[in-house]
Amino acid sequence: MIMEPLRGGQLVNQLPKEVYLEFANANQKRTPVEWSLKWLWNHSEILTVLSGMNSKEMIKENIEIADRSEANQLTEENHEMFGKIKKILWQKMKVPCTGCNYCMPCPVNVDIPTCFSCYNDLATVGKLSAIKKYLMQTSLKTEASNASLCIECRKCEKKCPQNILISERLQEVSRHLEGWYYRPIRFGIKKILKVKR
Ligand code: SF4
Ligand code: SF4
Repeated sequence: MIMEPLRGGQLVNQLPKEVYLEFANANQKRTPVEWSLKWLWNHSEILTVLSGMNSKEMIKENIEIADRSEANQLTEENHEMFGKIKKILWQKMKVPCTGCNYCMPCPVNVDIPTCFSCYNDLATVGKLSAIKKYLMQTSLKTEASNASLCIECRKCEKKCPQNILISERLQEVSRHLEGWYYRPIRFGIKKILKVKR
């Protein structure tokens, strides 16, 4: 059962331009929504795709795509295109974090996978979305979980299958995503939620 199949719309309207070019050059003319959903439906293991829909048109579109899709329907050419797209997205990634969570928990509550996911979003979906997501997911909560809380104990690094130098890379995250606005916003949140940290 697939949740967030389009990553909250990011796979539709916030992809790098090189990816849209790949879609445009494909033999079959399909929208990014259709390509993304077809890629999922192509897997015989998938029974349900739970896509968030905000209008009747979206419901209709998703039902029609599901109706037109079958497992193992994509061609060799389609797989090649997805292979190229995967490569483009990996090249754009700043940190090769897969979000496996093996590095967690962190003793000072840094949400390592989220920090890297937001940092990667900088290059793929854009600065504004990345900063917004970072603020929402690391600050708008009772206990902060942002990158600059890291005390460089490096316990997490032993557990990372990707051998990421987590403590070093978190400093980059903090430099790029915790601008002048971050501390005042966190201060405001702490006041509202009446928390110390
Ligand atoms: S190095 Fe930083 S992120 Fe990793 S466990 Fe220690 S404090 Fe947490
Ligand atoms: S263990 Fe490594 S790859 Fe997995 S979430 Fe943590 S940093 Fe990312």
